[in-house]
Amino acid sequence: MDEDSCLICSRIAAIQAGANPYFVAEVETGYIVLGDYQFFRGYTLLLSKQHVTELHYLAAPLRLQYLHEMSLVAEAVFRAFQPRKLNYELLGNGEPHLHWHLFPRYPDDPSPGTPSWKVDKNLRYAPAARPDAAELLRLKQQLLEALLQLPDLNIRATWKSLPE
Ligand SMILES: [Zn+2]
Repeated sequence: MDEDSCLICSRIAAIQAGANPYFVAEVETGYIVLGDYQFFRGYTLLLSKQHVTELHYLAAPLRLQYLHEMSLVAEAVFRAFQPRKLNYELLGNGEPHLHWHLFPRYPDDPSPGTPSWKVDKNLRYAPAARPDAAELLRLKQQLLEALLQLPDLNIRATWKSLPE
């Protein structure tokens, strides 16, 4: 899969055009977005700016910076949504462009001992798990406030600084 047919690259192009409602903030190595479905409230992704399929394809300094930024984004997700536990996943089987999934897991989780992918799809992809515009804005604001409290994270842009 090349960049022309890559879903993540097209999502990034939409961010740059001001047309991705899930976009929260841009950092040095990637774009922070909320997941389309919010069954795991605060589910966040960090999309790599570079279209590469494996972590080791990033040059070493960039790779370390990407991992460092991911850990800071995870900290912000934890502070913003206060889950019982965070899950970190870098898979890329369906979309082979580096992107971290950060899943908050809560005390009322229906399958607390399993990976998030094993939780019932009918719950994860239920229409009710799709945030409406007001809920999306509330989640984005909550996450952005936590991101802005991390002095080591260099935020280059937010959804508020892009064209409407
Ligand atoms: Zn891509």
